[in-house]
Amino acid sequence: MQVFKFGGASVKNAEAVRNVTTVLNMYKRQPLVVVISAMGKSTNALEAIHHSIITNDGKLDSHIETFNKFHDEIIDELFQLDRPWLKEHISNLFKEVKALSGKEFTGNPDQLYDHVVSIGELSSTLIIDNHLKCSGVNSIWVDARTLVKTDSNYKEGRIDWEETERLMKAQLMPNVSENSVIITQGFIGSDSNNTTTTLGREGSDYSAAIFAYCLNADNMTIWKDVPGVLNADPRKYSNAVKLDEVSYTEAIELAYYGASVIHPRTIQPLQRKNIKMWVNSFVNPKATGTLISQDATTNTNIPSYINQNGQWLITIATRDFSFIVEEHLSQIFDLFSKHKVKIDIMQNSAIYFTVAVHNLEWRLLALIDDLKEIFNVKYNTDAELITIRHYNDSIIKELVTDRVVYMEQKTRETYRVLLGEKED
Ligand code: ADP
Ligand code: ASP
Ligand code: MG
Repeated sequence: MQVFKFGGASVKNAEAVRNVTTVLNMYKRQPLVVVISAMGKSTNALEAIHHSIITNDGKLDSHIETFNKFHDEIIDELFQLDRPWLKEHISNLFKEVKALSGKEFTGNPDQLYDHVVSIGELSSTLIIDNHLKCSGVNSIWVDARTLVKTDSNYKEGRIDWEETERLMKAQLMPNVSENSVIITQGFIGSDSNNTTTTLGREGSDYSAAIFAYCLNADNMTIWKDVPGVLNADPRKYSNAVKLDEVSYTEAIELAYYGASVIHPRTIQPLQRKNIKMWVNSFVNPKATGTLISQDATTNTNIPSYINQNGQWLITIATRDFSFIVEEHLSQIFDLFSKHKVKIDIMQNSAIYFTVAVHNLEWRLLALIDDLKEIFNVKYNTDAELITIRHYNDSIIKELVTDRVVYMEQKTRETYRVLLGEKED
């Protein structure tokens, strides 16, 4: 059996949903589990709904209406006959949320977040399941929360692999066959109390890998709006080229350094069971995409670029400019961990500890405030972190010309540089 994953871009409107149905029809007589994200940017819209509840800003009802209208219009475009029950089903997903309107919220905001944002994936899969049925595909809608079990770390649920595998084998496996297609949600799960959890933004690739791992899939395919894994983000590099093959290790490195085409946690579960992964284009579904596997030979003649804008450079020193020693580092790391800020690159000298990070502004400011209680802290925003795998010297020279180099690190395979703009 195979696991497919369709992301937000592949189901962003009615035409995109029709395309997904066409792709799935190409695989009609094969056992398939299909993991789907929320439509387009609807997770962002749900985050706005969550914000309205928390702040009681009076915009909740209108945000819900916008979300429902977006989905209703897609339903109207997709189906010839009106489907009031489908619209009602989606609207009813907001029942508990609507009850919070106009009230001060006193519960756990992260738990509420997971409840609210899960509505995106539930809605998209209900619509796609219906559309598939209309096109003659025998699809079975499955609530991923009954299978993907996590701890209660809301917004970043950690998988209970044993329980998830047990449930998937016992409850899902018997329904996987060439006569039907399983349609389920990415990104969502539930804890041991069956309370909804999520796996972190962009987590649907990871969900697909969880299904593939637990069901011992033959392979997994993620369908994207690009021809495969490219050597750079095509939004920034118009001459980016497709990588035909990438090893698990290379894919993990690329994702870890921020190549946003694959969620960083996706590869490890596949690697553990040696499950091949394809990154294919939903625009051109017959074309060969990128194969990620154990034996793939990474073409080291093609350098890969990963650009991360919006980096904050934070420089930390002791108040008396004494040496930075282990005790200080441990205080610093505790604060980064407390504020849930991941360090993208770090460097220390005798008296300075310097990091680059990217995160929400309010979170970084709160972290800096805490650091300032103990240390001298300076920071500047708007730096760019560029990582190059399989670099060469001429690339580096070109890259740093006319820019300020804040930090630079080199290993045999990877060059990383934090750059700022020169002031005139
Ligand atoms: P999904 O719809 O599954 O959520 P994403 O939008 O997260 O898909 O990922 C696809 C996007 O990733 C592409 O549109 C592309 O702009 C971007 N991207 C960044 N780096 C790369 C890369 N190295 N190769 C291909 N796409 C990349
Ligand atoms: N819908 C979620 C998000 O936008 C998960 C995903 O698409 O991967 O983050
Ligand atoms: Mg995405």
